[in-house]
Amino acid sequence: MDFNLSREQRDIVRAAREFAQGEFPNRAAEFDREERFDLGIWRKACELGFVGTFLPEEYGGAGMGFLEHCLITEEFWAVDPGCGQSVLSTTFGAEMLALFASHEQKQHILPGLCEGKGILSTAITEPDAGSDPTQAVTTAELHGDEWVINGAKMFITNGTQCQNMVVFCVTDPDHPSRHQRHSFIWVEADRPGVTAKKLHGKLGIRANDTAELAFNEVRVPADHLVGVRGQGFNQVMELFNRARLHICAQAVGLARACLEDSVRHVKARVQFGQTLASFQGTQFKIAEMATRIRASRNLYYEAAWRSDQGKMDHALTAMAKWFSARTAVEAADEAVQMHGGYGYLDEYRVQRLYRDAKILEIYEGAKEVEKLIVARSVLG
Ligand SMILES: Cc1cc2nc3c(=O)[nH]c(=O)nc-3n(C[C@H](O)[C@H](O)[C@H](O)COP(=O)(O)OP(=O)(O)OC[C@H]3O[C@@H](n4cnc5c(N)ncnc54)[C@H](O)[C@@H]3O)c2cc1C
Repeated sequence: MDFNLSREQRDIVRAAREFAQGEFPNRAAEFDREERFDLGIWRKACELGFVGTFLPEEYGGAGMGFLEHCLITEEFWAVDPGCGQSVLSTTFGAEMLALFASHEQKQHILPGLCEGKGILSTAITEPDAGSDPTQAVTTAELHGDEWVINGAKMFITNGTQCQNMVVFCVTDPDHPSRHQRHSFIWVEADRPGVTAKKLHGKLGIRANDTAELAFNEVRVPADHLVGVRGQGFNQVMELFNRARLHICAQAVGLARACLEDSVRHVKARVQFGQTLASFQGTQFKIAEMATRIRASRNLYYEAAWRSDQGKMDHALTAMAKWFSARTAVEAADEAVQMHGGYGYLDEYRVQRLYRDAKILEIYEGAKEVEKLIVARSVLG
């Protein structure tokens, strides 16, 4: 058993940290306040090779594993979650395309994601279908040699900024299994009938674009079907099993930022004639935070490593997802607590981290859904 990162992986960590520290801190508060991001930073990250590292070299990626993408994610989120998400969520769904799309589809979509020329959205959630995607009612009907799409999608990351989207649609409504009624259809964002409306007023990761989408008689060629017709649900699960690893890394990065700011603050702040760090109550908080961060990182390193070895462990990934997200939410809560009134002000990063953390327990599988996966594997 070897717990060391390779030299190449350590170099990736160092480079990602330097990039994030150089690009994010001066702009993060502005992006959070104004609910926008400077895509020039994303392009720069693409030029330096941080985006789409997990994609095959043939399609513009670096041919690395999900672990390397997680290492970059952790470093970006440890500086600022909103900026980290805005740079790295641009490939969300490419994990699924790499597995199931045709060579032509991959050639058309994937290289641009790595080159800073294209952003991908993956539209699964609907106003009335979230944790249970089988309830999705957006339809794609085959008329001659075209799919005609009608419906609405909700909470779609990069929905107003993407060039391409993959849309989870009902294609086989009469199939007896609700798990075989859906398919993914690739839709160019500028097709007539596609509208995207930015959602405002998010609690956190406000730099990142989130949108609702509408599809009104949208026509795409029949060869825009991604993978096998009726296998969309299976493709969602395969996507989540990989993308959830990235959420774990987001959570560990955010929790690290909370620990870093808390340590700095409790060492400097004096009350009752001594630093906050000298109180045992504070020391316990710091010790628990550091332990949970380490445990979360070990969980996701193993889950990502297993995935990269072709030995995907769904239950382990689900454990890592809920546990690391909880770690981040609790770390943010304690970080604000240790900062006292100062932590309540937007001048202090912990206030933003507190707001950013909560999404980790909601998207790509709420914590209850993750625990169901774990329980099923334990109880049989
Ligand atoms: C910022 C943001 C970005 C997003 N990006 C995307 C995207 O790019 N693409 C996309 O398709 N979707 C995206 N989503 C949607 C996200 O994945 C869903 O919000 C999530 O799956 C939960 O679905 P829901 O909001 O409909 O909640 P619901 O399914 O209504 O669940 C509400 C709550 O009920 C509880 N719950 C649900 N099921 C169970 C259960 N079986 N047992 C016990 N408790 C349960 C959980 O606590 C859950 O939080 C995004 C959401 C946000 C907020």
